[in-house]
Amino acid sequence: MNATLVLNADYSPLGVAPLSTLTWKEAVKLVYLNQVDIIENYSDWFVHSPSVTMPVPSVVVSKTFVKSGRTVKFNKSNLCIRDDYTCQYCGEKFELKSLTMEHVTPRCLGGKTNWTNVAMACNRCNTRKGHRTDVNPMRMPYKPLIGEIVSKVKKTPIVIPNENWIPYIGWSPSLVSVRKPYIDKSMLQE
Ligand SMILES: [Zn+2]
Repeated sequence: MNATLVLNADYSPLGVAPLSTLTWKEAVKLVYLNQVDIIENYSDWFVHSPSVTMPVPSVVVSKTFVKSGRTVKFNKSNLCIRDDYTCQYCGEKFELKSLTMEHVTPRCLGGKTNWTNVAMACNRCNTRKGHRTDVNPMRMPYKPLIGEIVSKVKKTPIVIPNENWIPYIGWSPSLVSVRKPYIDKSMLQE
């Protein structure tokens, strides 16, 4: 898990699905390049160079407003969010790793791998459907708007590395768990 949350100049996360994050090294680099300001630090995690000791930034904010893309990235994670982690053939809920991308019009018949032809299916339903074209998903696949994905993802539990993120990410605190990143001593040699 990356250590640093990145906010846009308006203090909203640069991206929500997934959350915009950086490794601490990337964050420190941007601080030195004067592209971001640090607004929160880890209180118990420091990095050292021969001349400087600094806390690892937990939240940084971009100095300039970044116009964010208003389209949803086509990937399995966002497909699962769109389909509520539900197999679109049997209606059961699954974890991401147990869901597969099912082509409504099979690829062998020219079906594309895109928002309007891919529905999430469990392994069993995917195998059962195979190349058939007479079996339709419960809901025909569609291209979701960013707002739909963002509001759905904010209703799912999230693990973050630092409690300082909570005021900025817009999740209900009851859905947030904090898991401190493992602090490897070797990192301190940077
Ligand atoms: Zn199924």
